[in-house]
Amino acid sequence: MTDEVGTTRRGMVTGGGLGLAALAISAASASAATSAGQPTPVDEGLVQGANLSFPPIYAETERPDALPPNLDPPSHRVGFAIVGLGRLAVENILPAFAECKHARPVALVSGDPAKMAVLAAQYGIVPQACYDYSSFARIRDNPAVEAVYVVTPNALHRDGVVAAARAGKHVLCEKPMAASVAQAREMVAACRTAGARLMIAYRCQYERTNAELAKRVRAGEFGPVQLIDAVNTQNQGDPTQWRQVKRLSGGGSLPDVGLYCLNTTRAILGEEPVEVYASIHSPPDDPRFAEVESNVSFTLRFPSGAIANCASSYSAHEHRNIRVMGANGTAEIENAFAYEGQRLRLSRRDGMAEANTELSLARRNQFSLEIDHFAQCVRSGAQPRTPGEEGLQDQVLMGAIYESARTGRPVRLEPVAGRDVFRGPPPQAA
Ligand code: NDP
Repeated sequence: MTDEVGTTRRGMVTGGGLGLAALAISAASASAATSAGQPTPVDEGLVQGANLSFPPIYAETERPDALPPNLDPPSHRVGFAIVGLGRLAVENILPAFAECKHARPVALVSGDPAKMAVLAAQYGIVPQACYDYSSFARIRDNPAVEAVYVVTPNALHRDGVVAAARAGKHVLCEKPMAASVAQAREMVAACRTAGARLMIAYRCQYERTNAELAKRVRAGEFGPVQLIDAVNTQNQGDPTQWRQVKRLSGGGSLPDVGLYCLNTTRAILGEEPVEVYASIHSPPDDPRFAEVESNVSFTLRFPSGAIANCASSYSAHEHRNIRVMGANGTAEIENAFAYEGQRLRLSRRDGMAEANTELSLARRNQFSLEIDHFAQCVRSGAQPRTPGEEGLQDQVLMGAIYESARTGRPVRLEPVAGRDVFRGPPPQAA
């Protein structure tokens, strides 16, 4: 269609290599278009290949708008099967696919056919792509499934991961990776043998505020890190839930929520601890803690000299903060390990004053970022940022924490030279 200023509007925005400079050059025609009541290129946006963008309309003093999502077409996205349709899968993971750019749900695996049918209808998953645990291996014959996301109780992750790898699929596995070091090793070996990518779903390493803190610490913004405080607590209810049953959970608050303190501290520093010292206490005669622990306090000593004091609880009201104390400043994330509500506060000297700054980043769904990262790795063949080896290292460290609490002595750990030794490259900008 030709507009009143004599150019086709479509032609102005589909010029292939047309860049921002070209948009500026067209200012005269844009001004004419504006006065004629037509949208200008600045409002219509710019098509480049398969992507769409809009030039900034605010001054450089302002925070830029979010970029358009630029989704892969559905047929190009990595198809995921979700295994275990419990709270996390239903309330967080399946909904997060709506904000994914590179991934889509294409299959379900559940022990409950009625629940699976409801979800299959909601997410447009065909009945032939709904499996129970005994027919799971048939997923091998479904080419739409390229990746499997295992979201079952901790001790069952091993079975799901090994079965998925043997079926020729890449695997994203919930945290904690396993219920023991032996299971975790078996999972890494099975995926290696099958040539499958394995990623552990450490969502906080993909969450924007946690990633921003790690970036600033690594850049030396707060000087050498002296101390880290990390606390993750929640007050558990029903004592019959699998989290309170050791053969399904592998442990109590430590592998469930304390793991966030451990993994995030390691991810911020990039180092591995050389010593742990821990103590554990559970309220006596409380049926919730007949098999698993409630309160865990553990100290990690790192080669740089940084010391992290971490704590988790299943009987304290929810609190999920981390604080990094460097020689030149302090940074704290409120709600660091929560699904949302992260706030980063920085404190440091400003002349004769102490400056306290609060940073708020535009919200992005951390589950979507994590799933998309794995989808990108499946496509590119890159190692995920949080591969099986990252999960295995946490299992080893949790074993040392339990040992220290049992013996009442610090446990020395084999020094690990280098940074990010168990991690793949950082995520590409999503
Ligand atoms: P739920 O108890 O809500 O759901 C677990 C699901 O696993 C069940 O609904 C069931 O699905 C399936 N399942 C298979 N076998 C069993 C069994 N023997 N007992 C119980 N359930 C079984 O757990 P969550 O969704 O809270 O947790 C699942 C995993 O996700 C855990 O590893 C947990 O640590 C992790 N998690 C991670 C979070 C994160 O933020 N990254 C937050 C919460 C959990 P079905 O009926 O379909 O077979």
